[in-house]
Amino acid sequence: MGAPAVDRPANWTQRAAALAIDGRALIDGQRRDATSGETFDCISPIDGRVLGAVARGTAADIDAAVKSARAAFEDRRWCGKAPAVRKKILQRFADKILGAREELALLETLDMGKPIQHALSVDVPSTARTIAWYAEAVDKIYDEIAPTPATALALITREPVGVVGAIVPWNYPMIMAAWKLGPALAAGNSVVLKPSEKSPLTAMRLAELAIEAGLPPGVFNVVPGYGPEAGEALALHMDVDALGFTGSTRTGRRMLEYAGRSNLKRVFNELGGKSAFLVFDDCADVERAAKTVAASLFFNQGESCNAPSRVLVHESIAQRFTEIVAAEAPKYAPGHPLDAGTVLGALVDEPQMATVLRYIEAGKAEGARVVSGGRRVRQDTGGYYVEPTVFDGVVNHMTIAREEIFGPVMGILTFKTEAEAVAIANASAYGLQASVWSDHLSRAHRVARALHAGTVHVNQYDEDDITVPFGGVKQSGNGRDKSLHAFDKVTELKTTWIRIDPA
Ligand code: NAD
Repeated sequence: MGAPAVDRPANWTQRAAALAIDGRALIDGQRRDATSGETFDCISPIDGRVLGAVARGTAADIDAAVKSARAAFEDRRWCGKAPAVRKKILQRFADKILGAREELALLETLDMGKPIQHALSVDVPSTARTIAWYAEAVDKIYDEIAPTPATALALITREPVGVVGAIVPWNYPMIMAAWKLGPALAAGNSVVLKPSEKSPLTAMRLAELAIEAGLPPGVFNVVPGYGPEAGEALALHMDVDALGFTGSTRTGRRMLEYAGRSNLKRVFNELGGKSAFLVFDDCADVERAAKTVAASLFFNQGESCNAPSRVLVHESIAQRFTEIVAAEAPKYAPGHPLDAGTVLGALVDEPQMATVLRYIEAGKAEGARVVSGGRRVRQDTGGYYVEPTVFDGVVNHMTIAREEIFGPVMGILTFKTEAEAVAIANASAYGLQASVWSDHLSRAHRVARALHAGTVHVNQYDEDDITVPFGGVKQSGNGRDKSLHAFDKVTELKTTWIRIDPA
């Protein structure tokens, strides 16, 4: 037997040049142009090249997709199948994702600029694992019987809500889609997915693979398009029962308005972050803390909602910590995303790069000091690359400490006492994640409890798994993706009373 396909050395550049891009929507099991016939250019941030034309979905396409999803739900072609059958189909879907590993990774890298090695080792396997994990759950979740008097039986059952709308961002296009799809499909819903206009390509391939795996037509529809056109139409649609949104806090606000202006659909927002990373003077391994924050922040070009971009260090160790981080940063110098050794790729598009560079200038203007990076690089490629950048001397009221930058930019702040560290960490509009570094057991627990965040890490930042919920507090949103808790968003509890006559 030959080596498995996934271990084949791949000439990614040649394969990228040969790739045929199909930018059509997928509605009711069919690839379709937008009703208007209009398209938009899908541009690769690697070199500014146009990859292909993508259907510019609008309200008419969203309406067709929602009608198809509704019909599929009402005739029970999916939710009416035995759980073991739904499980099998979703498992096949996960297998197909893994089978298309190289194609999906290549599309993701070309579309949004992340290193191919990360797309292969993180994005594709994580997407498949999410679908497979929810597939496994389908026939293992039981409903409840309430402890009622003997004259009656009360069943508490979970039912799929119906049509779920999913609007996702561009930073982990497939993973974010899978976090919405996994529980929604496993529970028996139909889905209309609107990918980001900056990274639409893998979404349509995922839907094709789902159909190849046996998912009935209409159960999973994808309409690409711009936010204020396709996204708004989906969020305002009167026949969408629940909306899972991942994106910026600004757009999340609109989602709540859209629900209020339409059918009061339930909205679950997974929004931005400005996560604090606290390093105390009783942290035994300052070097590991410094290397961890660099690796976590610069991963995915800093375009991660949970990027630890506010680094709070005890003043007694700040100089040493900063020196280590400053020495680490150049190791994440941007490279061509299709080169196997690249660890930091291109920012998603020119406006995002301009935003990041504007924040770097704001940091300097407000008095913070650049200790590493700070410039646009690889300009001759035509792509959008920014050096990993570290500021020290940051104060929490500065713009770069308050606002989400969504790029490879870290700010180091100092503190004197534990109370001050907690106060600074919590003085943020966001509350997605945080990290505490201390070898004092009680302090680690105490601070972890005091931090306002959906997830707190202790002496690490990288652990993550589909088994645990992911989401924030405050303006980081109210949603919880992943884990069995995600079923709460896409199911309704129903009570059925049954009278039991005495003998
Ligand atoms: P964005 O809010 O600009 O766009 C997200 C999605 O919303 C896209 O599909 C977009 O087309 C759509 N959209 C934009 N305007 C819209 C409108 N007026 N009506 C309807 N839809 C609209 O966000 P982005 O720049 O794509 O993503 C980055 C943001 O996502 C960051 O803030 C990041 O922190 C956040 N994010 C959060 C999580 C999480 O789990 N909390 C995960 C990943 C990303």
